Amino acid sequence: MGNFGLSWRPSRWPNGRFHDAKLGLASLFQAICKPLYRTPQKVIGGIGNFLLPPRCLSCRQQTLQDNGLCPDCWRQLTPLTLCCQRCALPMAPELGGGAGDLLCGNCLTSPPPFCLTRSALLYDDVSAQHIMAFKHGDRLDYAPWFARLLWQVGGQKLFDGADWIVPVPLHWTRQWRRRYNQAAELGKRVSKLSGVAVGHHLLKRRKATKSQGGLGMAARQRNVAHAFQVPPKSKAQLAGKTVVLIDDVFTTGATARACSQVLLRAGAAEVRVLTIARVARSA
Ligand SMILES: [Zn+2]
Ligand SMILES: [Zn+2]
Repeated sequence: MGNFGLSWRPSRWPNGRFHDAKLGLASLFQAICKPLYRTPQKVIGGIGNFLLPPRCLSCRQQTLQDNGLCPDCWRQLTPLTLCCQRCALPMAPELGGGAGDLLCGNCLTSPPPFCLTRSALLYDDVSAQHIMAFKHGDRLDYAPWFARLLWQVGGQKLFDGADWIVPVPLHWTRQWRRRYNQAAELGKRVSKLSGVAVGHHLLKRRKATKSQGGLGMAARQRNVAHAFQVPPKSKAQLAGKTVVLIDDVFTTGATARACSQVLLRAGAAEVRVLTIARVARSA
């Protein structure tokens, strides 16, 4: 009985033991039923793969794994390996040092409010196509692949000791038009992979800012100034906590800065940034 956490003591039910007993019975039911329903699932999955084989998200060529790219499409992307550990700015290999050990000139002279950034890919024409399809083209099927990339590139350095994953929020009017927030879709999937809780409620966008596309650094900073807010009732949950902020692209870092400042002012101890892609110019 102990294996399933059963505490079958009717005399103690008024003290909450009835709840324990219910949980114990649920575990027992799951332990018996899981193998029964997993076997048909595997068979159905196998038949499904035979009838509808996994295909590349981009060129639809047949692949081995679902929700990913074929090797040909992969080769066209540039993974970020050597970059500034604080802002993920790509660095020249001749500067030496291992991945994630370097600091760029900007971060040395005027450190940003976030302490660590990881980006999976260089933001170029190829990665932009995939991200735009996900963001504006209703291609939610990209989300599992992007989430896996984020989880892999973030690794222990980003997730160890993290308390919250916070996706960069959209204003509700934009989310209503787009139907979903791409950062939130990534956040909930990365949360499942990493085991770090996602806090959609911890950061809100209170201003409907115009799109950042085509704006320079100064204009971007003005655009997002005062755009974000930690709701007063969420402050207690942020006090002393380490936050992983998730967004799709790190362009000038204006959004990451604005969000980090608001989170730190609300009491967060540390903000780390995680994005799919990074533009190769200084923040
Ligand atoms: Zn392909
Ligand atoms: Zn840097």
